Amino acid sequence: MNQYDAGRMDDLLRRSHGWHPVSTPEAADLIIFNTCHIREKAEEKLFSELGRLRKLVQRRRPADGVIFAVGGCVGQAAGNDIFRRAPYVDLVFGPQNYHELPQMLEQLARGRHQLQATDAEAEDKFDHLPETGQSGPVASVTIQEGCNRFCAYCVVPMTRGREWSRPAAEVLEEVTVCLDNGAVEVHLLGQNVNAYQAMNDARVTIDLSRLIAEVARMPRVQRIRFVTSHPVDMTDDLVQAFAEIPQLCPYMHLPIQSGSDAVLQAMRRGHGVEHYRQWSEKLRSAHPDMALASDFIVGFPGETEEDFQATLALIEEVRFDHAYSFLFSPRPETPAATMTNPVPAAVGRQRLAVLQDHLNRVQLENNRRQVGRKEEVLVEGESRQGHGMVMGRTRGHRRVNFIGGAELLGQMVMVEIVEGLPNSLRGRLL
Ligand code: SAH
Ligand code: SF4
Repeated sequence: MNQYDAGRMDDLLRRSHGWHPVSTPEAADLIIFNTCHIREKAEEKLFSELGRLRKLVQRRRPADGVIFAVGGCVGQAAGNDIFRRAPYVDLVFGPQNYHELPQMLEQLARGRHQLQATDAEAEDKFDHLPETGQSGPVASVTIQEGCNRFCAYCVVPMTRGREWSRPAAEVLEEVTVCLDNGAVEVHLLGQNVNAYQAMNDARVTIDLSRLIAEVARMPRVQRIRFVTSHPVDMTDDLVQAFAEIPQLCPYMHLPIQSGSDAVLQAMRRGHGVEHYRQWSEKLRSAHPDMALASDFIVGFPGETEEDFQATLALIEEVRFDHAYSFLFSPRPETPAATMTNPVPAAVGRQRLAVLQDHLNRVQLENNRRQVGRKEEVLVEGESRQGHGMVMGRTRGHRRVNFIGGAELLGQMVMVEIVEGLPNSLRGRLL
């Protein structure tokens, strides 16, 4: 979503100031950090990067003319603290205020300094954004923002704000622009995307499954994905969509966080392991190729060795195709930050390493099972693995590297899978 927001800032500044992105910080007149507050590490990275870039810019040219801006969730949460820790920062704005960037830049030009904007709602922002300038085969469209779930560890409700769904007509309009600009795959984005509820053109409130059906009716859309979903907001209609809508890719990112009921309860996730098990089974029976992905947090306060073992057991049972895993990070204003039963840091780190070993092994086994399959792959770019290779994704969102030239970029091709690796597949163009 931060990537999407950064794209929208680009759209805005092109229109208001005729500015465009440059490839080095030294060449920039404005440097925007679009930040994440979800874990402490991300926040600390902001301050070290700010210092590093400030020095770099100063060394090459008088830094006076360069505007430093901090946007995103750290901007929202840390506000004045940013001006205190990095006094050369000119602008601070939150994730729901970036549409004010052009006006803020004008105020700066008129001599104001250290401006802060952190008080808007998601809907204000969307009313002020110009048409998306996204081009390329894969396009992202925000359909929902914020969250009302208040999991005990999470800052999202405080930084992105309360849950809000974008009206269907606006979503479809933006999808149309992306398709006109060459997109064939559309990602529908939201912090809690399966809680989507908004009015369509006929003034009927629709949910995510209906919205997907409306997107699938648009000409030229070949693939649809959505991220990220919450287990409590699952519906049978959404599961059914995987069986009925051919453009909807069989990939579901449905985080569980822990395999222990006690930990899930302490996290205030609102469901237990059995609930998750049932939805994962329904999803897998809806589509034979369904790929399931999750997020995990280890070292949550009070997590015992037994709780941790239950998480490992769940991984063996569900056999996730992909997962992100994190060490619990206490965040300001969240209940978990002041819980009195922390897991010692060394134990948490060790559990994370064990968890990642398990996840990687299961992923490798799943990937090896793909060998011999013929998969439709959308080529997204050149491969990091070397010259003459390209990278694309299967419908199950698996990354495939194979020999091919630049003429394949953006193409939908058939590839035979020849090798399964822990984080990717190797293929052969058919
Ligand atoms: N809305 C999504 C996820 C949003 S945040 C959901 O509920 O699943 C993305 C991921 O970051 C979370 O799934 C969680 O695994 C991780 N995360 C969030 N807060 C965290 C914290 N305080 N410490 C460690 N990981 C965290
Ligand atoms: Fe954060 Fe997701 Fe929980 Fe919302 S549902 S509070 S975004 S972890």
